[in-house]
Amino acid sequence: MVTAKKAAISSFYAVDRSEILGGGRFGQVHRCEEKATGLKLAAKIIKTRTAKEKDEVKNEINIMNQLDHVNLIQLYDAFESKNDCILVMEYVDGGELFDRIIDESYRLTELDVIQFTRQICEGVRHMHQMYILHLDLKPENILCVNRDAKQIKIIDFGLARRYKPREKLKVNFGTPEFLAPEIVNYDFVSFPTDMWSVGVITYMLLSGLSPFLGDNDTETLNNILACRWDLEEEEFQGLSDEGREFVTKLLTKEKNWRISASEALKHPWLADPRLHCRLRTQKQQRPAGARDPTDK
Ligand code: ADP
Repeated sequence: MVTAKKAAISSFYAVDRSEILGGGRFGQVHRCEEKATGLKLAAKIIKTRTAKEKDEVKNEINIMNQLDHVNLIQLYDAFESKNDCILVMEYVDGGELFDRIIDESYRLTELDVIQFTRQICEGVRHMHQMYILHLDLKPENILCVNRDAKQIKIIDFGLARRYKPREKLKVNFGTPEFLAPEIVNYDFVSFPTDMWSVGVITYMLLSGLSPFLGDNDTETLNNILACRWDLEEEEFQGLSDEGREFVTKLLTKEKNWRISASEALKHPWLADPRLHCRLRTQKQQRPAGARDPTDK
């Protein structure tokens, strides 16, 4: 159980301020090392000048304290001072899943996407079992543990919260492509809100394309509200019927009709070993995002 210490972080950790692992909405993430053990960790420094900002970080700490799962980044320690709060977390080195989506040379097969999606669903199922909504699932918030293995961890619990029936959510949306229709509509958010995001991420992993992205934000929001998306692009050629059905069961406008994380994990696309065997032995595994150069 981590609580924010009032002490100076430098007494316990060496924070490498010269190297930024990532910049987020509220601060920066640096590599750091625990002085007593040499353990390599990540320190997220969040500017918190107002009491409200401090409370938001306390919420993030509180949420992370409740979560213990291989596919969710673990909180290790926390500090607060006058102007900022620092979360010390488990460090992972494989970069954002987002970078794998856009990296043309890193060809994801359908089976790779299945492995990533299954772990995302396992992390989300654990959160939902703990009655916690993430509400900011997107490729940037999914980190790969290392370059080669296909293990992932979900990060950024800055918007996460305990599920409260009938709670509506106002989000300050920078990029709207990942928002569920109920968020755009300022309607009740719930567990299926995260599952919509899982659908968007799966779609992107399979194709490198963003399902609702329009030429501008208004167009994107309209596409989301109309639930206007399809699997017609050539990137989806060869995608299994199970994969098509899986995405369809998540990118459903009516949130009560979407499958839950547990149901997703039982869906044949994630769970049927015969399908996985077929995909493994298929001569041309389906390129997701990039086309096979030998493909005519
Ligand atoms: P914010 O809440 O400000 O958006 P995030 O928690 O999303 O911040 O972190 C911002 C970026 O920092 C991430 O996208 C990622 O690239 C990097 N990062 C965050 N946590 C870790 C970590 N534990 N290990 C390695 N890199 C991390």
